[in-house]
Amino acid sequence: MNCHPKLTYKCACGAVKVQIKPSPLVRMFCHCSICQKLSKQSYADDILVLAKDVIIENPTAVSYKKHTTIFPLQRGECQHCQSPVVAFSTLIPLVKIAVTPTQFYGHQVKLPKAVAHVFYDKKEKIGDDSLPKYSHYLSSQIITVKFILTIIIKKLLCKW
Ligand SMILES: [Zn+2]
Ligand SMILES: [Zn+2]
Repeated sequence: MNCHPKLTYKCACGAVKVQIKPSPLVRMFCHCSICQKLSKQSYADDILVLAKDVIIENPTAVSYKKHTTIFPLQRGECQHCQSPVVAFSTLIPLVKIAVTPTQFYGHQVKLPKAVAHVFYDKKEKIGDDSLPKYSHYLSSQIITVKFILTIIIKKLLCKW
């Protein structure tokens, strides 16, 4: 997991532009029912970064909503095209992370391969790969926390 140079992406209509500062990227597949609904796919393909490395250029175009009380995630969507443009969570106290949809990154950088499937008990479609698969709330949370800690550690080694 290496650091990438500064990246940018836009929502589907272009109203929301997001900058990602150099940081390690962790890519995961989430099968939870909310991700299925918002991504309109059988699972969401997401990239996790630290929230402090994310700059939303026009934050007023994003509206945030918490879709469930158990999962601590504020999901932001573009007010114009309703793209799930970014979500924020404080899964570890004092460490805010951002969840960003892989599809918006385009081809500006060679994106890392996904490291895991989470909330696999909710799967609609079987992942045809050999990645580790975590079912249920607790194990999905624990593995996500582990990857966030990896980001924090790897970030110290970034040369950008
Ligand atoms: Zn939009
Ligand atoms: Zn999800």
